[in-house]
Amino acid sequence: MSIRAHLPKVADAVVVGGGIIGCSTAYYLALAGLDVVVCEKGWVGCEQSSRNWGLIRKQGRHPAEIPLTIHSLELWHELATKVDRDIGFRVNGTLYLSDTEKRYDANRKWLEHAQAFDLDTAMLGMEELRTVAPGIRNQARDALFTPSDASADPHLAMQALAELVMQEGGQILEQCAVRGVDIEAGRVAGVITEHGRIRAPAVVCAGGAWSGYFCRPLGIQLPQLKVISSVMLSQPTDHVLGPALWSQGMGLRRRPDGSYIVAPAGNADCPITPDFLRFARSYLPTYRDSKETVKLQFTRRFLTELSWPVAPSHRHRSPFECERVLDPKPNHSLIERVRRRLGDTFPDLADIQVSRIWAGMIDVMPDELPVIDECHSLPGLVISTGYSGHGFGIGPGAGQVTADLVLGQGNSSSLISGLRLGRLG
Ligand SMILES: Cc1cc2nc3c(=O)[nH]c(=O)nc-3n(C[C@H](O)[C@H](O)[C@H](O)COP(=O)(O)OP(=O)(O)OC[C@H]3O[C@@H](n4cnc5c(N)ncnc54)[C@H](O)[C@@H]3O)c2cc1C
Repeated sequence: MSIRAHLPKVADAVVVGGGIIGCSTAYYLALAGLDVVVCEKGWVGCEQSSRNWGLIRKQGRHPAEIPLTIHSLELWHELATKVDRDIGFRVNGTLYLSDTEKRYDANRKWLEHAQAFDLDTAMLGMEELRTVAPGIRNQARDALFTPSDASADPHLAMQALAELVMQEGGQILEQCAVRGVDIEAGRVAGVITEHGRIRAPAVVCAGGAWSGYFCRPLGIQLPQLKVISSVMLSQPTDHVLGPALWSQGMGLRRRPDGSYIVAPAGNADCPITPDFLRFARSYLPTYRDSKETVKLQFTRRFLTELSWPVAPSHRHRSPFECERVLDPKPNHSLIERVRRRLGDTFPDLADIQVSRIWAGMIDVMPDELPVIDECHSLPGLVISTGYSGHGFGIGPGAGQVTADLVLGQGNSSSLISGLRLGRLG
């Protein structure tokens, strides 16, 4: 999609980042009548938001996020009817196999959260499992199932969302990196982009994996890291699996055209970066749980990020322009492993043909929860980032509550009480 516009001199709000969080925020701000501008250094959805698996799930979410995920799913239903085309939105459920002791216990524990929030989640015995997942080989003791969970096509959804922003009067500027926040008298006065200044009393940082670096010169420390997640898309097949499925080391989702998104769920590569060294301590508890599946990598990324200036100059080309799109290399051995696992789980899919393989850089926080908050040390700045691998599903809800913060409306504060900046110490 090519979205071109002239740089406006003033706006009511500028959103930094044209991913699902930035575009959803802009949509709800534009709906509220604000003159909103999204600045995106690459193009809409070019990083995580168009590379994800497309799951919109409540299942497995941290209790602090469940109210927002419930709300977000309602908004997905609304958005799917608002747009004039199919964005692949389907309510098909999420299924977690209890195929290891750890997952068996985790599934039981999560069922308690589901009951507390009155969700439609249930444990399925083997017979019921074979009905919802025909052709599955008996490997699991049982499975956790939330039928009301959904999915959508990330590419189509992002395009449609960007069009909704523009229909409501918002502007989206692609190839427009924001180098920094303009501050006057101790509060936000706008942004400095690579093409010039935009004056605005409110700025939203929705920069995904770049948010930590973006916020640092403002004196805000976000202990954010990045992990690389690899994905495979198959050719269409006749095999029909309704719900999205998670098992030990595999995530699977059937798309409306019959192709499958197949991914090494939970397995990721973590590049060692200067931030990794800076924040390692905060990640120790999470790392202890995932050290079998998250592999540390020493790559050129360390030197690249080491060469970044502490604060990007407002006058010169910044790292945001030098790397318009984070485009990590996929891990082919993980993909090969997950293909074998797919064949073990669904023998009918053992010879599935690969259509495409890609990877995305996921931004994570130590507690795997996002930060959605106003910044009290810099009035006018709102931060909405750190979605830790599940920001697509929660995106519309997160965008709406972020917009509420900009608008100074407290009506969604109960949805984000566990997601404030202050919890990070
Ligand atoms: C492989 C993979 C699978 C995933 N699967 C799922 C899933 O099934 N379900 C789910 O809910 N989530 C999933 N996720 C996570 C989800 O995609 C992300 O949490 C979500 O897209 C984050 O959205 P965002 O808008 O915060 O970030 P992004 O989509 O990364 O967008 C941030 C944007 O900000 C721009 N930007 C940054 N700095 C600047 C600047 N200074 N100036 C201008 N622009 C800037 C970037 O170019 C980028 O486009 C997955 C992610 C990956 C990578």
